[in-house]
Amino acid sequence: MVDTSKITLIDGRKVASDIKKEIADRVSELKKQGKKLPHLAIILVGDDGASTTYVDGKVKACKEVGFHYSLLRFADTISEERLLKHIDQINNDEDIDGFIVQLPLPSRISVEKVTERINPEKDVDGFTNENFGSITSADPHIFPATPFGVMELLRRYNVDTTGKHCVVVGASRLVGAPLSMMLAEQGRATVTICHKYTENLASHTKKADILIVAVGKPGLITGDMVKEGVVVIDVGTTRVEDGSKPRGFSLKGDVDFDTVAPKCAMITPVPGGVGPMTIVSLLMNTLKASEQRTV
Ligand code: NAP
Repeated sequence: MVDTSKITLIDGRKVASDIKKEIADRVSELKKQGKKLPHLAIILVGDDGASTTYVDGKVKACKEVGFHYSLLRFADTISEERLLKHIDQINNDEDIDGFIVQLPLPSRISVEKVTERINPEKDVDGFTNENFGSITSADPHIFPATPFGVMELLRRYNVDTTGKHCVVVGASRLVGAPLSMMLAEQGRATVTICHKYTENLASHTKKADILIVAVGKPGLITGDMVKEGVVVIDVGTTRVEDGSKPRGFSLKGDVDFDTVAPKCAMITPVPGGVGPMTIVSLLMNTLKASEQRTV
């Protein structure tokens, strides 16, 4: 067991709970003023266990803060054409402020086509090309949910990224790439992006003041790959078989906590770090989308 008494554990559950209270307060105000309440719609195709669990979490979060929500479930036999028609209907539904299509989709449906059909103003996951590109604009509209959650965690723990060297490991379209842009733009950091072709990964991670890892390979980052005093954000979430757990698996991050944590100024645990922030980012984006549509 690691002695965590001298390390700051970044508590994503606590921050997420604080943000939910702030959003619930705002919803109460809107109610008192007789204004329209934010409405999130969620599309779920098929009955994949992990996707259903994520969607249940999103529905629960909407209920907690007082948002209206609609859950649209379709069999995994739905055609791409029909799914796109449903997306058009939601785009045109005046009451719905934001919506998401839970991924993954059946392989015969193009994620790119589906994502690009979403009206960017209602794209509260922040996946459309327009929202991705707007990160570097003067007035970004909606930030991608997981990177937004990471930035919010850093902000609420007073981690100033200005001029710091942030190393992002993982360059996916959903997490690593947009997060790197946000750290450079909004965070004014010097950013290094590493991916699977990066040679000598440790030579980069060792230079990080702030290290963010989003790969999906448990234990990729070990204690000898980081410097003393680093701030580590572990986005990785991989289900690993674990007979001691009631569900038969546990969640593992990309960072080997036992060897890395003793060298850190701050670190996120997995679970309980970035995970809870992704759902509240979705709520923050929905509130923003709603308020922008009703001004
Ligand atoms: P992804 O699409 O599979 O992307 C993984 C990225 O890691 C890719 O850029 C890949 O490089 C890179 N990579 C692969 N092997 C590498 C290596 N050995 N060294 C350095 N980089 C390597 O996954 P994702 O959607 O970004 O998700 C990443 C992790 O975050 C997963 O564990 C996922 O479950 C988790 N996640 C968590 C949350 C949350 O709310 N907590 C949200 C989203 C994702 P290439 O681009 O070259 O292939």
